[in-house]
Amino acid sequence: MKDALFYDAIVIGAGAAGLMCAAVASHGGKRVALIDHSEKIAEKIRISGGGRCNFTNREVGYENMVGENPRFARYALTEYTPKHFIDLVKRHRIAFHEKHKGQLFCDDSAEDIIEMLLAECAQGGVQWFRPCKVDSVLKRGEHYQVNLEAAQALQTPHLVIATGGLSIPKIGATDFGYRIARQFDLPVVATRPALVPLTFDAQQWQTFAGLSGLSLPVQARAIGEKNSTVFNEDLLFTHRGLSGPAILQISSFWQAGQAIELDLSGGQALDTELTQSKLGNKQQFATVLGQYLPKRLVEGWLAAEGLDTLAAQKYADTPDKTIKALAQGLMRWQLQPTGSEGYKKAEVTRGGVDTRHLCQKSMQSKVHSGLYFIGEVVDITGWLGGYNFQWAWASAHAAGKAISSSPPSAA
Ligand SMILES: Cc1cc2nc3c(=O)[nH]c(=O)nc-3n(C[C@H](O)[C@H](O)[C@H](O)COP(=O)(O)OP(=O)(O)OC[C@H]3O[C@@H](n4cnc5c(N)ncnc54)[C@H](O)[C@@H]3O)c2cc1C
Repeated sequence: MKDALFYDAIVIGAGAAGLMCAAVASHGGKRVALIDHSEKIAEKIRISGGGRCNFTNREVGYENMVGENPRFARYALTEYTPKHFIDLVKRHRIAFHEKHKGQLFCDDSAEDIIEMLLAECAQGGVQWFRPCKVDSVLKRGEHYQVNLEAAQALQTPHLVIATGGLSIPKIGATDFGYRIARQFDLPVVATRPALVPLTFDAQQWQTFAGLSGLSLPVQARAIGEKNSTVFNEDLLFTHRGLSGPAILQISSFWQAGQAIELDLSGGQALDTELTQSKLGNKQQFATVLGQYLPKRLVEGWLAAEGLDTLAAQKYADTPDKTIKALAQGLMRWQLQPTGSEGYKKAEVTRGGVDTRHLCQKSMQSKVHSGLYFIGEVVDITGWLGGYNFQWAWASAHAAGKAISSSPPSAA
């Protein structure tokens, strides 16, 4: 058997985090190998942000992260900020714009970000292995040996796992990273689809299925999850349930069996407004509500609550108590999703390698020196809005810097 090829660092997974880490480590003078099993690397960057890649957000902190210990992300996010990535994008003359709430998108195409990262890797002389399947990873003394299916084995003192999460399996997502973590006795926090549309029991949803395509601004939160945040975003009705940014955001907090709460008024004091506009108002109840909310939604909602008779009632004749209770129902609409659209539609995976077993400065295993986990494979999930890519860049940068500043290694 041939001797293994030696590299200062081997990165498995050439997505957002893997490309960034390989570039940073190689710029520090290290010989880096980058392995990916897909024909087309970085597919998630390519399809992100509707093809324009929401590559970061102007403001990113650990508060925008979800997981068992979001504070873990603090060090990496402070060391490599959105400004650092924006400077890199500007150096490569990529035109971009802010769309909404600090979210930055390419003017032309997500392809620009991929080209930029490939150019950074080329500049550092990163060696490619792709498409290339990894058979196994073994520890040999101080080194890690990566056995490849159709190429010579590789050895390194620094092995970086950047194989991402489980979402969108058809473009190459695998559980490889979690398997390697378990092989080296690193616990994996249970995974589940996140940033994903939520679904409902078909019968329960019958009344609302007809609203499919309807969108409105709401306040949304998942009930029961500690640290659950209230999001002011758009809600979208679908045939099978709810989607839109508001739902994607709270889906990362939602747990099976729990309810979600929506303020359909989008934060207006609907109870006060409605009682104040009552005096002498001869319109029908549904018509008045329709001034605040889409009429189709009002009718569907009243029907689902068994209050359809109210719709045709004269507003002025409706007691204040009823109006108030109804407004509060619309402002605190609680529903129990039965599931989600799953990994095939989820933008990210919640859960992953347990951060308590990683060093926050280098993303290295606390027990297995030289074994790193970066990006989505770690139990850190960003909100919708460029936060996931910023986590990928920042965690990759932390590992890349730690590798590039490590002493020279002998084969
Ligand atoms: C539709 C969609 C849109 C999104 N839009 C945005 C957005 O606009 N902004 C944002 O911040 N986030 C967005 N995200 C999330 C973002 O894409 C991910 O969080 C990010 O790509 C994670 O980076 P990563 O490098 O950890 O993993 P990935 O980018 O998933 O890269 C993992 C790499 O590992 C490779 N790999 C997997 N298994 C193996 C294996 N066994 N052997 C070898 N290689 C392997 C894969 O081929 C892939 O190239 C979006 C996600 C989706 C699905």
